[in-house]
Formats: sequence, C-alpha cells, structure tokens
Amino acid sequence: MMRVDAVTLFPAMIDSPLSESIVGRARAEGFLELEFSNPRDFTEDRHRTVDDKPYGGGTGMVMMAEPVYRAVKKVRKKGSFVILLTPKGKRFDQSVALELSKKKHLVFICGHYEGIDERVTPLANMELSIGDYVLTGGEPAAVVVIDAVTRLIPGVLKKSDATVNETFTGGLLEAPHYTRPGVWRGKKVPDALLSGNHKLIAEWRSAQAAELTVKTRPDLSAEPKVKKPASGRKKILS
Ligand code: SAM
Repeated sequence: MMRVDAVTLFPAMIDSPLSESIVGRARAEGFLELEFSNPRDFTEDRHRTVDDKPYGGGTGMVMMAEPVYRAVKKVRKKGSFVILLTPKGKRFDQSVALELSKKKHLVFICGHYEGIDERVTPLANMELSIGDYVLTGGEPAAVVVIDAVTRLIPGVLKKSDATVNETFTGGLLEAPHYTRPGVWRGKKVPDALLSGNHKLIAEWRSAQAAELTVKTRPDLSAEPKVKKPASGRKKILS
C-alpha cells in the first residue's frame, strides 16, 4: 500500500481524474491511499489569503510560504518523500517512476499562479518537472506522476509482467500491438503474430522495437539501459 498526499489549492483537479479506471480501482482496492492538504485551510486571515504580489514587481501572484509550509507539516511524517512540482525540476521519466513506486509515502507540493515563494523549496526531497512546458499549476503534473507510479505498485496491474517489456523499461520503445479482426479495412495483422510460434513472435517484437526506437527516438538507444537513481535533496527545513 502506498500513501500519497497532495498539497494543493485545487484538490478536485487531482481527485477527479484519479478516481477513474485503473488508478480509481487501485484506490478502491487499497493499493493507493490518496489524500489532500489544502494551504487555504492553514491561513488565519478573514479572506483565507494564500498568495501575494511578487517582491521586485512583475506580473502574477506568488503563493505564500507559510500556508504551504503548514499544509506540508500536517501530512509529512518520518520517512515521507516530498516532491515539489516545478518546471525547473529534474525531468520525470520511467526510471523516476520506478524509484518513486518503492516509497511508502509521497507528498506532492503543487504550485499555482506564478509559483510558490522560493523559501519553501528546502521542504522537498526532490524537485520534479513533467516536461519542458509550463502548466497552469502542479495539479496536472501530480496526476501524471501519481498515475505512472501507481501502475508500478505490485498488484495494481493484474498481470505481473505487464510493465516488464513496455516502452522505456528496457531502454526501447515497445513493439506495436494488434487485436481482432485479423484484417481491418484491408490492413492485415503481421504474419509473425498469427504464427503461434512464441520464439518467432518474440524475435519479431524485439526487431520492431529496435527499428521503431532508432527511427523515432534514437536518443533512447544511446542511453544506458539502467539509469542511476535520481539524487535526493537533503531536507533542511523542518
Ligand atoms: N513562473 C514559473 C516559471 O516560469 O518557472 C511557472 C509557474 S506555473 C504557471 C505554476 C505551477 O505549475 C508551478 O509552481 C508548478 O507547480 C506547476 N508546473 C508548471 N509547469 C510544470 C511542469 N512542467 N512540471 C511540473 N510542474 C509544473
């Protein structure tokens, strides 16, 4: 069982998409416990203010440190792994997903508006980005990371080998899939897959995977097969 807490001003942006399909089932079956901590609940003024204008000027609003700090403190325990979602972070990929799937408790801090006061950064063990683009908030990023991590929790996918040969896991893209009918609008399923010969099928799949990777993602075949685990940031804010 994994516990995940998301520190967010907009819990429904995470809760709703992660209530469907495989992750929704993983939550219902107790593989994943997902809870929320809203910085707005940790404010003390009448307007429950969570943001303010940036020092030095500039557009947009900045999330204030104290409500975020308190929201994290409420859910963080000994052994929790705290992730700050930011486009400036380490790039998320399958090896990071695998590393995170082994943790017992993840806490995601989701920024919004122009981001969070920089002084909360040391709360995090890792700063993580889901790609080189800017989202309106950390919530869609949290959904992506939690989804990718949840399917790697043992027991979530009913076939234990489902994640073994897939794209990125072996350093290659996965071979294409086909299902019935055998001929669809004049397009035939490749003969090797209809042969019933397991050795031939495995050879066809690995040749396809290699060819596809070289063609569309040559950078992947150049990467080492086992990546170094992501380096953790030392906690200095308690
Ligand atoms: N002003 C910030 C900058 O230029 O780096 C962008 C802030 S963004 C509009 C608001 C929040 O969305 C961020 O604090 C972060 O939590 C989240 N976010 C945006 N893009 C992201 C990405 N690629 N990966 C992870 N989180 C992201």
